[in-house]
Order: sequence, then C-alpha cells, then structure tokens
Amino acid sequence: MTIRQVLLNPGPVTTADAVKQALLVPDICHRETAFTDLIKTIREDLVTVAQGDDSYTSVLFGASGTGALEACITSVIPAAKKILVVNNGTYGARLLAIAERYGIDTVAYELPFDRPLDLSVIEQHLAHDPEIAAVALVHHETSSGILNPLTPVGALCQRYGRYFIVDAMSSFGGCDIDVRRDHIDFIISSSNKCLHGMPGIAFVVAKTPALLATAGAARSYYFDLHQQYHALENTGQLPFTPPVQIAYAFKAALDAFFEETLAGRIARYQARYAQLLAGLEAQGFTCLTPASMASHLLMTVRYPDNDFDFEALHDTLFAQGFTIYPKKLAIPQTFRLACLGEITEDDIIAFLAALSAYRQTRLNQTTEAGHVG
Ligand SMILES: *Cc1c(COP(=O)(O)O)cnc(C)c1O
Repeated sequence: MTIRQVLLNPGPVTTADAVKQALLVPDICHRETAFTDLIKTIREDLVTVAQGDDSYTSVLFGASGTGALEACITSVIPAAKKILVVNNGTYGARLLAIAERYGIDTVAYELPFDRPLDLSVIEQHLAHDPEIAAVALVHHETSSGILNPLTPVGALCQRYGRYFIVDAMSSFGGCDIDVRRDHIDFIISSSNKCLHGMPGIAFVVAKTPALLATAGAARSYYFDLHQQYHALENTGQLPFTPPVQIAYAFKAALDAFFEETLAGRIARYQARYAQLLAGLEAQGFTCLTPASMASHLLMTVRYPDNDFDFEALHDTLFAQGFTIYPKKLAIPQTFRLACLGEITEDDIIAFLAALSAYRQTRLNQTTEAGHVG
C-alpha cells in the first residue's frame, strides 16, 4: 500500500512528506520547554495567517475543528444573550445545534445554499434586537462549496458593536481572510484543512480584548476559551494533554505554508479547481455550486447518467488511490470534490482519467445488459 493517497474530500487532506516525517520525534512531555516553545510559535503563526496584529492572539485545543467551534460559541455569548447564526448549509446548522445544546438563545437567518445573503436581514436583526451579542457565519460552506462574504458582515458587526464569529474551518489559509479588515473577533479553524497538517488540533484566533471579556462565561469545562488562553499565556502549556506529535507536524505544515505564501496557496487551489471543473464539464458533469458564489476550494458535482451509484464510484476510485466525498445537499446524483491538500496537476489528470474510465465501463455494461434483455 502506498502511503500517499489523493484525498479529494475537504480534509483531512493529502499531506506533504515533510509533514508526515515530522510526526517522528523523540517522545516528549508537553510540559517541557522545547514543546512549549513550539506551541508559542504555532500560536504566533496562526495570528500571522489571519493577518492579525498584536491586538490578536490564538488559543489551541486538542480536538477536531468542532471542539473549537463549541469552545467559542459556549464561551463568548454571555448568559441571557443571543447568537445570530446565518444558516445556509450543514455547518451553519451545526453552529445553531451547538448553541441550542447549551441552552443559548439563537436567532437563525435561514436561506438556501444558492441564494446570496441579504445583508439588510442581518442589519434588521441587529438594529432591533440588542440582546444579540454575536453574529456567527460559516465562511466556506463545505456542504455545498459556496463562500459567504466576510467583509460586509464584519462591517455590520462593527457598526452595531456585536462580536463577529467566523467558522473558517475549510477556508483558513486558503482564502484572503484579514481579521482586521473584516472586523473578525473570533475565527475558528483546524490543523488539517487548508493548512495541510494532520488532524487533532483546533484553534481560535481572537481579538484579545474580546477574548478577555469571556472570563468566567464558559459553559463547558474542557472547552473554556478563557481558561485555555490563561494557561497558555501564564505557563506556555496547554492545560490538558495535547496531541504532541500532531503539533510537530502542524509546525512543519505551517513552515511550508509560509514558504508558499497565502497568495501562492490560493493560486494553487484556483488552478486545481479550474482544471478539475474544466475536465468534469468536458465529460458532461455539471457543477451545482453557483459560479458567482463558488469557492475555489470545493464543488458539488452532478453525475451525468441516471444510474448513479456513489458507493460503486467511490470504491472503484478508492482502489486507485482517489477519495471522493458524498453529497450533503438533498440533490440526487451529486457528490463533492475538494482540491485542498498537496494535490498536483498530474493527480487531477489521473483522477479525471479514472473517472472517465469508470463511467465508460458502466455505460458499456448497461448497453450490454440492454442487448441481452
Ligand atoms: C470540516 C468542517 C467543520 C468540522 O470540522 P471537524 O474537524 O470535523 O470537527 C466545521 N465547519 C466547517 C465549515 C467545516 O468544513
């Protein structure tokens, strides 16, 4: 079995050899200086990726991305206040579900995945409901592949004096995000999507005064944003055992990110996305993500023939080293393809060839069956 697989799911992603090799470190306790130094540089790196200045900080958790979302939502909203959540996909719905699980009052702005946000709806809510403490928005809705706009929503939050919380799980490091320009107070992501690390570390980049204001407000013990920050600032240590080797791999991934630069990574994703889209369309597939709202990160694709069998397609491609991802939208004959990770131009060429071969085989089978019948 080859170690390298071409993952066309939106994380965990295909990682570079240097990231895989970085896992192999001497056993070390996370309370040693060598490790706390590593954590410090990772925290600084994350603020840099977010284009923050020294009024921003970052907090890490040993968790999948959802852990940091849970930490943020359940720490930031004060008792008896509300959170406004824009819900135009599975991940928006998850933000609502987290708040509801903890008994936090929610206001939902629900809209279909293919309709652009109406900013006046958000503004109406903010203008008429002073109990709304924060607006939460998913930047890249990984369920469909659409991007929600950060800058105008951030400007509204700034104007009405509310916190702006952004789930940028699958766009952080892969899109032009600037926490200062976009007036973002809290932005959440994880090690294993556009930053190309291994799964296991989730983080929040936060405006420090906003984070300090959460002291004592957390509803969870483990996912207490302020407590985690306090421990990191005062001891340099994560209070609970972190995934040590994953942190070394994450640092290797961040080093590679800075070498490539944000602009370089965006350009790489755009090139893979365009190549994938052109190849799919040439084969008769259609992309359901509206072009005007589409990210260059992931697309929802419709299979051209009626006899679509996701499992059969997945298994055939998987045996050849390609991983595709099931649909989230309730639209038949669809599946998802992402171009995050260390995916090369040749990988896409090989994938398109494998896809075409699968379809031809299936069409031939159907025709033969037709003749026999
Ligand atoms: C992947 C993803 C998550 C969840 O991340 P986990 O690491 O699986 O917990 C949340 N939001 C968005 C937008 C995502 O793409």
